[in-house]
Amino acid sequence: MSVLIVGSIAIDNIRTQTEQKDDLLGGSASYASVAASFFDSVNMVGIVGTDFPKPYRELFINRGVNLEGLEVAEGKTFRWTGEYEVNMDNRRTLNTELNVFETYQPKLPQSYRSSQLILLGNISPALQLHVLDQVDRPGFVVADTMNLWIDVALEDLNKVLKRIDLLVINDSEASQLTKKDNLIQAGRAILQIGPKYVAIKKGAHGCLLLSQDQFFSVGAYPLEHVKDPTGAGDCFAGAFAGYLGSLEKSAFDFSDLKKAVVYGSLLASFSVEAFSLDGIKDLTQKDLDRRFQVFRSMSHFD
Ligand code: AMP
Repeated sequence: MSVLIVGSIAIDNIRTQTEQKDDLLGGSASYASVAASFFDSVNMVGIVGTDFPKPYRELFINRGVNLEGLEVAEGKTFRWTGEYEVNMDNRRTLNTELNVFETYQPKLPQSYRSSQLILLGNISPALQLHVLDQVDRPGFVVADTMNLWIDVALEDLNKVLKRIDLLVINDSEASQLTKKDNLIQAGRAILQIGPKYVAIKKGAHGCLLLSQDQFFSVGAYPLEHVKDPTGAGDCFAGAFAGYLGSLEKSAFDFSDLKKAVVYGSLLASFSVEAFSLDGIKDLTQKDLDRRFQVFRSMSHFD
């Protein structure tokens, strides 16, 4: 089962307290697709401009990502600049240039339309809906979002929430969306809107998965040094969806979702150890297995 992933493909400029890097490969679909590619075949949907660097395109190809749904339009690729505070869970957007994204209407290749597993990565909810409308009969839909869309596109975001199975969201955004500080209350309020499950990411503190009657909590992989948290959420969502796709099932039980949360956390942990996609692009099965065992031992207590 291939996983269909839509989102942004970006050129990022990143400022941390100690380093500044420009013209990096970024974007929600970039991180998510590469993370998912460790588990399943990936059909990517997105847009870049004619300035998109060839080595970045080759990185996707090297990971086996299907680029049939990647449009190349006259103009510049989407650009984003972000700055992290000392506490790297806090970041500010310094600049966003939509460029080719401004007029983008995703068009799914025919071969993508029967996709069963869909990840609506972080882009405007209107575009997420546009993609969903083109899928014949989606089996399981995961969506991600961000504070910007809660501020400027709440109506469309609520429409998305009614059509998905699982929402991935971070703690502050869950509180912003539901106006509830308590994360269990926030999670329950999100489930009331539509999705059957919600995965609330807590940055360096891990992730909480909730359904109407079950929950699962896992810590983040303990890292001494974080270089660049950009894309951690997208890697989480990508690995989560990719792992589910690899199960080749049409329905998932809660234990499948728990394992998907662990794989999501795993890919996120590799991603933040380096800038851009450098922490994940060359991972080996051995790297993944080793960290998976640490997660297993972290969540067992007898
Ligand atoms: P994350 O750190 O997981 O929230 O994702 C960071 C990535 O999101 C960066 O690589 C950005 O290029 C991308 N991004 C930032 N703002 C937006 C936006 N408004 N729409 C889509 N992608 C964005």
